[in-house]
Amino acid sequence: MLIVQKYGGTSVANVERIKAVAERVVKTVEEGNKVVVIVSAMAGETDKLINLAYQVSPNPSEREMDLLLSSGERVTTALMAMAIEALGYKAIALTGRQAGIITDSVHTKAKIEKITADRVINALNEGYIVVIAGFQGITEDDLEVTTLGRGGSDLSAVAIASAIKSDLCEIYTDVEGVYTTDPNIVSEARKLDKISYEEMLEMASLGAKVLQTRSVEFAMKYEVPIIVRSSFSDKPGTLVTKEDKDMEKVVVSGVTYDKNQAKITIIGLPDKPGIAAKLFNGIAKANIVVDMIVQNVSSDGKYADISFTVPKTDLNKAFTLSKEIANELGAKDVIYKDDISKISIIGVGMRTHSGVAAQMFEALAKHGINIMTISTSEIKISCIIEAKYTELAVRVLHDVFKLSEKANV
Ligand code: ADP
Ligand code: ASP
Ligand code: MG
Repeated sequence: MLIVQKYGGTSVANVERIKAVAERVVKTVEEGNKVVVIVSAMAGETDKLINLAYQVSPNPSEREMDLLLSSGERVTTALMAMAIEALGYKAIALTGRQAGIITDSVHTKAKIEKITADRVINALNEGYIVVIAGFQGITEDDLEVTTLGRGGSDLSAVAIASAIKSDLCEIYTDVEGVYTTDPNIVSEARKLDKISYEEMLEMASLGAKVLQTRSVEFAMKYEVPIIVRSSFSDKPGTLVTKEDKDMEKVVVSGVTYDKNQAKITIIGLPDKPGIAAKLFNGIAKANIVVDMIVQNVSSDGKYADISFTVPKTDLNKAFTLSKEIANELGAKDVIYKDDISKISIIGVGMRTHSGVAAQMFEALAKHGINIMTISTSEIKISCIIEAKYTELAVRVLHDVFKLSEKANV
């Protein structure tokens, strides 16, 4: 089999862990497989580099930020190849560029446009174990180094797996698979044997950082099966795949939280056609992804308040832009709140069940947790609450929907 194995930060956190991973890779090869390894930077390294950038500048340029952050993955790639060679196997370390990962030019959150993986395939055919730096790519025209957004090594792995037509894409991390909620917050969280792309996509985009959202989107589009498992054990993990009839029949399958959102409110906008379009066009042009949007119109119908959420990392940019646009439109004020958290419940079973939202709101109310904003789709319900209630809310919802008990299949 041809297997892609991705190892996240904690799996390569130090020299011992790198050696342990090298042994696991070699074992997979000894079992008769060809292996491509994608590595993240050592745990904490990317944060450390970001921190350094903000120590030298209040507003570091995104191009230079990418050059800086891509160095973290280079370090582990080279060390991993060396560790594999020390075990007597041929290995070659490649940067994103050398592996042919071509992206657009949106620095710090570039999208993969194509992968020209000839060099990877040739090296595999020559008997090498290929080790590729995750999280990074290169623009085609001017060869600018780009990164794929936080957690982006997952996307590198899935995209490479698809490009080289690998049989399997294994994502190795520090937990044993995908759980009903973050196992580091709720000890009763239950590991799922299988989850559909659709549910995994919702869970990832609503905050379960075990897989990066775009990696799931990519896997779903190109039908790359993913196995999420631990690099610290030999347990089987969770299979992420197409929805099938063996999957658990539950209404709610997971609870997530996301502390990385901030809310901006524009107060007293004159309520006329075109206002929202103008505001959100301006924000979209800056490549900022807006999540929830709520509009309230005053009782006399003259003014509107618009609130929306953006990733915390884009708050400065979005707030400055909103103030400019609000000024042009004659709004009264712009404020923001960043000590918020988004709590969500997810499940394909919600399509056919009513009353789930009421059950969620009631559970939160019973514990005195106030809901600021609500948004729903066919398969999820999200509420914005005060950040300080995050863990409590996750536990309460996990409990109310009995997620630690296995459902009948
Ligand atoms: P890596 O460095 O290997 O990429 P991450 O830290 O990005 O690992 O992702 C793994 C973490 O995701 C776990 O340690 C866990 O705290 C968190 N997590 C959040 N929600 C879930 C979930 N539903 N199932 C499993 N892990 C989750
Ligand atoms: N090192 C990058 C990050 O911390 C990418 C990754 O780990 O997937 O976000
Ligand atoms: Mg990750």
